[in-house]
Amino acid sequence: MALAREGLSLTNMGDIMEQTVAGATSTGTHGTGRDSASTAAQIRALELVTADGHLLTCSEKENPEVFAAARIGLGALGVITAITFAVEPVFLLTAREEPMTFDRVTSEFDALHAENEHFEFYWFPHTDNCNTKRNNRSAGPAAPPGRISGWVEDELLSNGLPARLLAGQGGAAGRPRARQGLSRALSARTYTDIPYKVFTSPRRVRFVEMEYALPREAAVAALREVKAMVERSPLKVSFPVEVRTAPADDIPLSTASGRETAYIAVHLYRGRPTGRTSPRWSGS
Ligand SMILES: Cc1cc2nc3c(=O)[nH]c(=O)nc-3n(C[C@H](O)[C@H](O)[C@H](O)COP(=O)(O)OP(=O)(O)OC[C@H]3O[C@@H](n4cnc5c(N)ncnc54)[C@H](O)[C@@H]3O)c2cc1C
Repeated sequence: MALAREGLSLTNMGDIMEQTVAGATSTGTHGTGRDSASTAAQIRALELVTADGHLLTCSEKENPEVFAAARIGLGALGVITAITFAVEPVFLLTAREEPMTFDRVTSEFDALHAENEHFEFYWFPHTDNCNTKRNNRSAGPAAPPGRISGWVEDELLSNGLPARLLAGQGGAAGRPRARQGLSRALSARTYTDIPYKVFTSPRRVRFVEMEYALPREAAVAALREVKAMVERSPLKVSFPVEVRTAPADDIPLSTASGRETAYIAVHLYRGRPTGRTSPRWSGS
């Protein structure tokens, strides 16, 4: 938002914009991208206060080894006090959101990735329904999403509306038709807006998330395994499973270090049992 006020933008962003800049970069926070990588990969220089109190300026030219590691350093190399990003003039992205079947999106995953600057999709567990999102640069004009369709999409994809509606009604797995219906409530839509409004969405509910980073070519097989595992388990997963990609980067601790990567992120409503050993797992 601060960059947009100056007529500037990052090239790529994650799903939210609540984090601190140093927290987001130090953990390798990423969105989805064919050519553009994580927030940390967009750093051009940083200032670090080291454990002995010295101020160290790092870039590809100055202290390059520290720079390489400190972009995703989890705070281990010192306290970051300033970051210089490779920003660019603010631009427009056209987002195309389109429901697809699980079979179609997994069989066309490579092509969808190759043909779009930012491709991601959500699979709704216990169904064959997915929602895909393609973001590509656009000459405009801006055409922001309608308030109502934007709200429906945000609630279903980002805020686990099925979980909230079905809580206390026998659980999500007890209502397959309702869940199918909710995931089908998503319809295709296209809108054009500035990057942070397209990349990020508000999160209003608490959830726990686990994300695996895999070689990109392994993503589809892994997701099919996840689907098969969910189908044969007593798990009741109400949040969509999110699949994103990143190009290889050169940051030692990055989840995409030296390798084209795909991410599979699973979420559960906060408070739901998440471990196999939980006694409440199968009955709730
Ligand atoms: C709702 C939600 C959605 C999310 N979506 C995404 C997403 O789409 N993609 C994604 O990749 N991640 C995502 N995340 C993860 C999130 O981006 C990270 O957890 C991020 O670290 C949170 O930033 P923070 O400011 O809270 O950092 P903190 O949790 O405070 O810190 C994280 C790490 O950074 C270090 N650190 C913080 N400040 C400094 C500093 N000044 N100098 C040195 N080290 C520092 C800390 O030591 C710690 O190791 C999401 C998280 C949430 C809660």
